[in-house]
Amino acid sequence: MNREEALNLHREALVIDSHNDSIVAHIRRGNLGLGGEWGPERAGRAGVVAYLRQYLYPFGEGIQLDIPRMRAGGIDAAFFAVDTTRPWGNHLLYAMDALGYLVREVEEHPADLRIARRAEDLIQAKREGKLALLLAIENSNALEQSPHVLPLLYQLGVRTMTLTHSDRAWAGDGCEVENGGGLTRFGRTVVAQMNELGMLVDVSHLNERGFWDVLDCSEAPVIASHSCCRSLCDHPRNLSDEQLRALAEKGGVVGLTFVPSFVDARAPSLERLLDHLDHAMQVAGIDSVGLGSDFDGGGDLLPDAAAYPEITLGLAGRGYPPEALRKILGENHLRLLRQVIG
Ligand SMILES: [Zn+2]
Repeated sequence: MNREEALNLHREALVIDSHNDSIVAHIRRGNLGLGGEWGPERAGRAGVVAYLRQYLYPFGEGIQLDIPRMRAGGIDAAFFAVDTTRPWGNHLLYAMDALGYLVREVEEHPADLRIARRAEDLIQAKREGKLALLLAIENSNALEQSPHVLPLLYQLGVRTMTLTHSDRAWAGDGCEVENGGGLTRFGRTVVAQMNELGMLVDVSHLNERGFWDVLDCSEAPVIASHSCCRSLCDHPRNLSDEQLRALAEKGGVVGLTFVPSFVDARAPSLERLLDHLDHAMQVAGIDSVGLGSDFDGGGDLLPDAAAYPEITLGLAGRGYPPEALRKILGENHLRLLRQVIG
């Protein structure tokens, strides 16, 4: 496949990215709009996230993923996550504030954006020339330990959630807790509730014991939305070969991420990320590998979403056939979403 053929395939394929932190980044960069809108009149949009988190300067700059950059990079659909780890008091209010901000952005960009509630919505959005957003929560502390919150978040359109961040959560221990335990009783309840609602359980950030507990108790396949391969880079956020194999056997997908320290401790590079993709495909198989950039949350290996075709060009350069490229770019994520959220 030559360069032009690879770029054509990228444009025409359904491209799905399984993790970004872009909405909170937009708030912290001065309550920016997803179309790049910015100005003093937007100060009135400052809500709970804006109040609790520090602003990042300069305003209006430093964003990796928004409407223009998704369009430039040929990304058709993305999981927009709200990481509720640092709310200083109320995880749920923090989640609702950021989700509300995002919903308002979608309403203000009806020609560009739509929220996807079902897998089919992703396909329809591409047909309509719109970008599809999957609402996601990072860290189930957002539920504030209530059994009644998740069904309401589902009604809002939230379709996927990580159980923890890297530290201790009510559902279990994240990957950076020393001598961490497995899922708590609450964590098991959350997994069961997500299975019942048709929400995709995300095991990224979870420690290894929790990972095995989820694989054991989840009735549906799960995603690791933004992680890499431990055997190429020994970082607790990455998955061992054993984990990759088990995730795939259950029908799950790993979204390989662009966080430099997860790609290589010494010399992270695009080539090294391609090595992770090669490796994940060898171990987990061609049907279980996708992309989960972590743009605006540390996914700095590529400058921004506009550079996404570099991945396709790199994989094409390594001899991957068109069917394999389409699976990695989005079909594997789509298959998993079909199976879990319907
Ligand atoms: Zn994360």
